Amino acid sequence: MTETIHIGQHALQELPELLQNKAFSKVAVLVDEHTLAHCYPQLKPHLPAHDIIQISSGEEHKTLQTCEYIWQRMTELHLDRWAVLVNLGGGVIGDMGGFCAALFKRGIYFVQVPTTLLAQVDASVGGKTGIDFHGLKNHIGVYQEPQAVFINPAFLDTLPQRQLKSGYAEIIKHWLIADAAQFEQQRHIGLMTDNWEELIRQSVAVKSKVVEADPLEGGYRKVLNFGHTVGHAVETYLMRQPGRELLHGEAIAVGMVCEAFLSAKKELLSEEDLGKVELFLEMVYEKVVLKEDDMEQIAVLALQDKKNLGAAINCTLLAGIGHAVYNQPITLHDIKESLRYYQSL
Ligand code: NAD
Repeated sequence: MTETIHIGQHALQELPELLQNKAFSKVAVLVDEHTLAHCYPQLKPHLPAHDIIQISSGEEHKTLQTCEYIWQRMTELHLDRWAVLVNLGGGVIGDMGGFCAALFKRGIYFVQVPTTLLAQVDASVGGKTGIDFHGLKNHIGVYQEPQAVFINPAFLDTLPQRQLKSGYAEIIKHWLIADAAQFEQQRHIGLMTDNWEELIRQSVAVKSKVVEADPLEGGYRKVLNFGHTVGHAVETYLMRQPGRELLHGEAIAVGMVCEAFLSAKKELLSEEDLGKVELFLEMVYEKVVLKEDDMEQIAVLALQDKKNLGAAINCTLLAGIGHAVYNQPITLHDIKESLRYYQSL
């Protein structure tokens, strides 16, 4: 990875130097109504003269239509190829802002200032940008690295608890695939911590290491997909059902239980460790109720997952806590069985 990641209470103080050194022609900041109200006041003192582009918050706005609006505003503001877009927000702002910057005039610079836990430990790291398309999550996108990432844990002070828990799922995932000791230490505690900065640092380190080894997901990067084959399908399915929508991390928590079950079924994970994973996730996340018909449709959706080749479903499983193996073939039947297991807990 070529991007620089600054983490800590003073991370934003590094921003003016970058903006000065690179001598960008213009600075624009992409926000939604929440990050404008809660986060922009902390960012503003670190910025030179700039314009604001505001969009509406929410996954439902991570669309081509919103991109069109952003590109229109960039055009009206006369951004040229040497301009920079500062993405101030959660994963939606980061993914879509990065995507818009990567395509505008064949690519302008962008900087990520993630303000949700999920964006700080996951979405802002690794260069994946993109949008949803016709109900399919992250269906259109490009790999493009930002100039730098600035992570200030203080932004989490205004984040709703439900959003905090959603991001925590990705931290748990990082422990499960790469850090057994930290999982063991944290699993009795649940969501409590008085040191987000340290947890963020460790989590970013796990993700960065994986991405550095395999930036374009030729193979090894797929370990980061643990919980996501089933989780993504659950998220996509419920996204289409008004009133049942889940946050990304909430769906991934369901997926992690299912995929831990499949790991045990394939004798990669011991029953004891499966129990530890379940207990921890049950302690933090509310149960998602799924009926038999839901499970059928979620399993079919998992087939459309872009990680699959043809009709085979490839999944990342745990070979013990702290170690993941990718490209593990699983069937439609396996997915349904894992969802039934999740329901039975
Ligand atoms: P989000 O961007 O929708 O943000 C959640 C909500 O919190 C929004 O309403 C936002 O306005 C608000 N918010 C943001 N910061 C706040 C703050 N500091 N205080 C108060 N409110 C604040 O959701 P998210 O969970 O951050 O991101 C989810 C998105 O990230 C999904 O689209 C997912 O596909 C994507 N993602 C991308 C990657 C990647 O590698 N690119 C990885 C994981 C997830």
